[in-house]
Amino acid sequence: MNEYENEKYVQYENGATFIRRGDKLTSMQFLYNAAKKKPRVITPSGKEIIYEFPDTPECEDARCWLCGGKTNGKGTPKKKTIKPTFTNHDIAKYPLSQSICEACTWGLANSSLRNYSILATGNGLEHPSKQQIRKYLINPPEPPFVFTIAVSGQKWLHIFAKINYNNSFFEIMYEQTPVQVNSQKFKAIIELIETLYNAGFTKDEILKGYYQAHKILAFGIEKFEKIENQLETERGSRLFELAVDLSRKEEK
Ligand SMILES: [Zn+2]
Repeated sequence: MNEYENEKYVQYENGATFIRRGDKLTSMQFLYNAAKKKPRVITPSGKEIIYEFPDTPECEDARCWLCGGKTNGKGTPKKKTIKPTFTNHDIAKYPLSQSICEACTWGLANSSLRNYSILATGNGLEHPSKQQIRKYLINPPEPPFVFTIAVSGQKWLHIFAKINYNNSFFEIMYEQTPVQVNSQKFKAIIELIETLYNAGFTKDEILKGYYQAHKILAFGIEKFEKIENQLETERGSRLFELAVDLSRKEEK
């Protein structure tokens, strides 16, 4: 994150109590602030999560080992917070530090931040369902925001996520892969996919590009080729995979 991005964020959140002007906010700190604004989050299955924010002890390091952000004098010892099972040591932004900031300590202590997808905005934190993710990729929220899409629910994605300052072109973590999203393009792709999906083609057929001939005939060869020619150029990209994954049947 550069100073310019930070400036934009500070202007956007000007007046908010938790930000001090001039501080560089990292993605994890952004996420932390979002959760503090809205600690009660409902999961896609309807479960209620209420995030808690325990006091963090004072620390001597000015920077966080993990996110590299300012600790503002508060942090937990790295030795204690970073468990032996943590395998992402190479992503430490400030390897000289022995402290983990308040936000990262919180971020690593809550397994629901790994189990669920996350959308963090200036208004709060959400664990969106697939249908909500689909909606947000077509109509993205006001920036800034952080967006992760969990597939396995077993991996930390938020530590790799970026703060987005643009909602036409932005980056999400789709499982452990950063994916550049052009929301207009995503909308166009998913609409084509859903036309085929609603006509009886399976997600597997659309994903791989191998279709059963009788379905093509039933759908109409000309109409089919017009769609498939457009999908062909996108096939193989993570954005295409994501669009197939999120495509839905029309309710009748
Ligand atoms: Zn941190």
